[in-house]
Formats: sequence, structure tokens, C-alpha cells
Amino acid sequence: MTTAFDRVGGDRSVVVARVNGELRDLATEVSDTDVVEPVSVDTPEGLAVLRHSAAHVLAQAVQAAFPDARLGIGPPVKDGFYYDFSVTEPFTPDDLAELEKRMVAILKSRQRFARRVVTEEEAVRELAAEPFKLRLIGSEGGAEVMEVGGSELTIYDNLDARTGERCWGDLCRGPHVPDTSYIPPNAIKLMRTAAAYWLGDQANEQLQRIYGTAWPSKDALREYLTFLEEAEKRDHRKLGAELDLFSFPEEIGSGLAVFHPRGGVVRRVMEDYSRRRHEEAGYQFVNTPHITKAALFEKSGHLDWYAEGMYPPMQLDGEVDADGNVRKQAQDYYLKPMNCPMHNLIFDSRGRSYRELPLRLFEFGTVYRYEKSGVVQGITRARGFTQDDAHIYCTLEQMPGELDALLDFVLGLLRDYGLDDFYLELSTRDPNKSVGSDEVWAQATEILRQAAERQGLELVLDEGGAAFYGPKISVQARDAIGRTWQMSTIQVDFNLPERFSLEYQAPDGSRQRPVMIHRALFGSIERFFAILLEHYAGAFPPWLAPVQVVGIPVTDAHIDYLADVAARLRARGVRVEVDTADDRMQKKIRNAQRAKVPYMLIAGEEDAAAGAVSFRYRDGTQKNGVPIDEAIDEIVAAIDARVQV
Ligand SMILES: [Zn+2]
Ligand SMILES: [Zn+2]
Repeated sequence: MTTAFDRVGGDRSVVVARVNGELRDLATEVSDTDVVEPVSVDTPEGLAVLRHSAAHVLAQAVQAAFPDARLGIGPPVKDGFYYDFSVTEPFTPDDLAELEKRMVAILKSRQRFARRVVTEEEAVRELAAEPFKLRLIGSEGGAEVMEVGGSELTIYDNLDARTGERCWGDLCRGPHVPDTSYIPPNAIKLMRTAAAYWLGDQANEQLQRIYGTAWPSKDALREYLTFLEEAEKRDHRKLGAELDLFSFPEEIGSGLAVFHPRGGVVRRVMEDYSRRRHEEAGYQFVNTPHITKAALFEKSGHLDWYAEGMYPPMQLDGEVDADGNVRKQAQDYYLKPMNCPMHNLIFDSRGRSYRELPLRLFEFGTVYRYEKSGVVQGITRARGFTQDDAHIYCTLEQMPGELDALLDFVLGLLRDYGLDDFYLELSTRDPNKSVGSDEVWAQATEILRQAAERQGLELVLDEGGAAFYGPKISVQARDAIGRTWQMSTIQVDFNLPERFSLEYQAPDGSRQRPVMIHRALFGSIERFFAILLEHYAGAFPPWLAPVQVVGIPVTDAHIDYLADVAARLRARGVRVEVDTADDRMQKKIRNAQRAKVPYMLIAGEEDAAAGAVSFRYRDGTQKNGVPIDEAIDEIVAAIDARVQV
């Protein structure tokens, strides 16, 4: 008998095998004709198997510590794993520490994961005490979970390394690492608990979920924990409050932010610069209302395929007489979740000639989407937000040139805001759900692909990931700590021009349908604001900083002198404040540092006498006796050049 382990195992970084393309345990029997490839823990698949195996170990530890705990499901997730349990009391932090200890003991004991095929009757008998597992067995593969769904039902037993005795077991389709020692005991950590509904459905019982993480080495775990710490420091919700930028008042509701004066300044500068660049790039500015009659979204199709993401309708304009008879039927009005249908109405407001194409309509358009409360997150995923939204109407022949210009424009603008590590993703057709002819799809996708390739950036294919109405390029940007954010999207649309019967007159006098491109560069201003806030950890570059300069007098005697300097800076368009509070100088410096102000100008007796100031930079370095004119020129030059520090 030959196993996959005999063929490709041995190296402990190999945790499972790919047998004829399918992930399998290393203990799987194979024949000479089977194609067996090693799968290392350094690959996403291998790492997921390691993490899922750790979830089994967690469940074993939980049932040892809490014999009444009943098992839910335990899949790997991004950066770790979880397991759901039905318990009488939620887990405490002390419980997690205890469970972690028990897990370490199990990992060190080297228990083997042994696969056993069972009949449905056997599984039902063995799992009689596990009501949730029983439901999975009965679900006919309906639930998309790790536990069932293969061609046969399997139970994995954990066997003692020496005696081979069964220590524990779980319904699972696998695969797993060969034994628990493949999971380094110093590379696991239980992170937190949360309440979770069985299979994510609010109609079901509430369970207690434990999130954990597992890595191939202690160093990899430590690196991950450091990254989490750094990300937490940069959390835009925390920085937004600390720097007095925005808040989410309880009275307004979930996912709806208000911007405070300091956040408002950053936002205005972002918008102003974007507006100027759009003007230069030939966009025309339009404005459209926030609400509309249902008819518009019926025409666009949004009410067919996007209704769940929309706020429920308001019923307006109905009339009922004194006797309660309806004299005029009420109309449904909706808050708009997208601007596109309204831009189409502008295109269609009069006849269009080929001479007007490409027609680029731009709007800072505020939209409302009814995000589920569970997914609302700060201003990155809000219920009301403003898109820097544009729709480009052009001919198929104009598309290559338009896309080149668009990508140059998008990437150039993102670089100006300080992001410069990009890759592009191309989403292609899902043949099962799409409108438009094969030929046009193929052509448009090829045009997008070529335009993306001309940028010389890494291009990742998202096969079948396009929306039903057309292929898409999205720009993915990595931030200062290596996280990837989806930024701009450039979406071709074959659907809306059809639905709105958009036409232009071609040179030969015939009526032709334009191609429509949707593009949002920031995505939304709020989301982009949050990304920049996290990218810069709150220390915006001078051109974006809400307060660019703080004047700090050595004593009150120098306030007037600094007020004069401030007036001259203000005259050059610089946002400057003089700290006249009743604090000592050191305290004022600390306050300005905490507010992450790019420049402090300090002035005392000597400076005043010499017509100079002392520069203090954000990094703590200082430059003394700088003549006022020179200081002002340096600051204005840094702002104009949009330097990054
Ligand atoms: Zn499993
Ligand atoms: Zn659109």
C-alpha cells in the first residue's frame, strides 16, 4: 500500500497533497497512476488546512473543558479560523487562556487525524449528542460547510500517538494535517469571542464563536500580531475621534457620519483637487437629486437586482378625500443608491452627435445604500456616502484611447494622494449571468486587458468575476502597512445604454448605441478619506492637513509677533493657528504633536528681535533662527508640491 505521504511527504512543511487535482490527507492511499503533488503550508491552501486542523484542536479543548458544549462549524477564515459552540454561558477571557493551554497540550501530544468513512446511520448514531452536526447530515449538501458535502460522509478521529486510542472525533470532510504536531504550539493564539447565529441566519439559534489564529512558525505569528497592533493604531474610527475629524451621532443612525470642521477641511481639499483635475481632463460637471420616483429604477433594472441594497420607498403625493376615498394614488419614491440612471437621463435629454463623444459626465453624487448593520464599518462601509462618480459615453472604437487616458488619470491622481503601490484586477464574464453578445464582451474585455497591460503593472485575472452587465478593471492599492484596498473601478456597461435606448447620430447619419463606462476613482470620498487616514496614521501630508501650521509663543509676550506671522501665512492660503492657551510651551508642543500638525513655528525673544522663527517638524527635528519670509516660502512650497511628509 502506497500513501500520498510516501510519494511527497517527509518534509514537515508539506501538510497535505493534491491527488489528481484534489486536496487530500497525506495518509490517502494512492496508486501508481495517480498524480500526487505536495502542498506546503506556505501556500494559501496548505495554510488553510493547518488553520482548519487547529479549529478541530480548539473544539476538542472546548469539549474537554466544557463537556456540555455542543459543536457548530469550524472553518478556516482569512488569517485564522473559528469554531462555533452552543454553550450556556459566553466564554470569558480567562476561558480563552485556559483553552489555549489545553490546545498546546493536544498539539504536543501528537494526535493523529484519522479519516473514517461512515454511513448516514452510523453518523447519526455516533453524533446523537450533537444536534447541529445532525442537521448538517440531513441537509443534503445544502449548506456550504467544511463538515459535509463530499461524495461520502466522513468522521475524523484524533488518535493517541502511542496507544492509537481514540481521544476525540468530529464530522468533517477534511483534509487535515497528518497529526497535531504539524501545528507549532507557539504559533497559535485564540483572539476573541463573538455571538454568531447558526449558519449565519438570524432566524437560527445563537451560538458562541471563538476566533483563533495559527501560523507555520512563531515568527510568522509574531509578525501578524505586530501588524494587527499597527492596524489598530491606524483604525480610522479611533483616529477620527482623536483628531476631531468626524463622528457617528446616535441620533442620526448607523453608518451615517457627520464631518467636523477639521475633517471638513480635509474633505474639501480632497474634493477641490479632484475637481480641478477632472476639469483639466475634460469632464463636464452635473448635479442630480437624491430621490426619484420608482419608475427610474424600474427602467434601470435596479429594483429587479439591487432592491435589497436600497432604502425602502417613501409613499408620496397621494390624495385621500374626507370620506377616505383615494383620489390620487400615492407614488413610491426612492433614495438613490447610484447616480448612473440620472446621468443617462442627462445624456438622453436631447439628441447627441458623434462629435460630442466621448462625453464625460462627472458628479460628486451622494448615494444611500441600506447596508446590513453587521457590515457597516466606520466610513469605509457606510449607509450614506458621496461618490466621485463619472459616466463616460463613447464609441467602441474610442474605448482603447479613452481607457489609456482614464488609467493614466486614475493612477496619477492616486499617486498625488500618496498611494503608489498598485496592481490591477480584470474581472471577466460569468457566462451564466450576463447580458450582451459574446462578440462585444470578448472585444471589450480584450480592450480592457490591453489597456491594463500598457500600464506595466501586475495584472490579476478575476475569472468570471464581472457583473452581469460588463467587464471591469479595478485598481488595488497597498497602503503603508501592506494592506490592499480596492480603489478605483472602471466598469464597462452593455446593459444600461440598452435599457435607456441611448443613441447618438453617427457620421453617416445612422443612429448608434454608445458604450457606457462607469468609473469612481476614490470609490467614495468617505471611504478614501478613511484609507488615507489609516495610510498616513493620521499624519496627513501638509497639503491635506486640517491645520498646517501652529504658532507657539515661548511666552505670552510673543503672541502678537506670531499673530503677525500667522496673518502673513494666511494671506498665502496656509491654514494656521496660534496657540494662545494658558499652557506652558512644552505642553503646546505636545498638543500640536498629538494633533499631528506638520509645522510648528516657535518664537521667543531672540526670534522676535531678529524677525525670525524656529521651525519644528513633525519628526521632532528643529531649525532655529529662520527669517520669516524664508519660513513662509518653505511651507508654501511644500504644500504646493504636495510633499508626502
Ligand atoms: Zn475538519
Ligand atoms: Zn454608474
